[in-house]
Amino acid sequence: MKKKVASISLINKNLSINKNFLENATSEEIKYVIFHELLHLKYGIFHTPKFKSELKKHFPEIDLNKIQEGRIKALIKKT
Ligand SMILES: [Zn+2]
Repeated sequence: MKKKVASISLINKNLSINKNFLENATSEEIKYVIFHELLHLKYGIFHTPKFKSELKKHFPEIDLNKIQEGRIKALIKKT
């Protein structure tokens, strides 16, 4: 795992989280990312409308694109 914040294997259910992200993110961002990855177990690999709406229901204040494009990307670059 290089540039990704986190990933999950749908086959063996292993969840991987970027160490730099864990050290620098807020607890809310970490919760969001873990929840996001666990949702992939439920909905599969794609960010379908159902996937997005369940994510939004639990984390209405967090925008996936902002995280991916902004803060987390910057955090990963510190690696
Ligand atoms: Zn995802």
